[in-house]
Amino acid sequence: MENPAIIVVDMLNDFVTGKLEVKRTKYIIPNLQRLIVAARKNDVPVIYSNDAHYPQDPEVVEKWGDHAIKGTKGAEVIPELKPSEKDYLVEKRTYSGFYETGLDPLLRSLYKGEGVKTVVLGGLHTHMCVRHTAADAFFRGYHIIVAKDGVEAFTQEDHEQGLKYLENVYNAKIMTVDEIITEFS
Ligand code: ZN
Repeated sequence: MENPAIIVVDMLNDFVTGKLEVKRTKYIIPNLQRLIVAARKNDVPVIYSNDAHYPQDPEVVEKWGDHAIKGTKGAEVIPELKPSEKDYLVEKRTYSGFYETGLDPLLRSLYKGEGVKTVVLGGLHTHMCVRHTAADAFFRGYHIIVAKDGVEAFTQEDHEQGLKYLENVYNAKIMTVDEIITEFS
């Protein structure tokens, strides 16, 4: 796995226990905890890609209503996955973690300027923010790994279709968290 970084997408209070709660998302929390701890231990950068909306954002107005509004508790990472001081937080205002954010320059600056080559995606939701972030990663030439037991969606069907799409369209490698961890060391 060449120059990996973990990207944890939208593991925020509003998506896990708040306004857009999806109960099935709680099952990936222990897996993401293991992934993040192993990453930190192996000096793999951990980046949180977090919704931080203004109330006038199209996604809020047109589609989902208020969620993850910048500065609110709902927009904070869930306590179980609390970022450490060495981790990076990149705010976004729509599905993709790359869209008009500092994520790409951050990735390129890591590994002493060599840049991240492989993004490992976890978080929410398989068929939406994970998918759009994967699209933008693919357009920019990153290799993509998706932790299949570290991403979730509204339904099993959304989740499975999401994984299939990521594999078919962005050549994402679909791996378990344990398989990913083995490749760190
Ligand atoms: Zn949003």
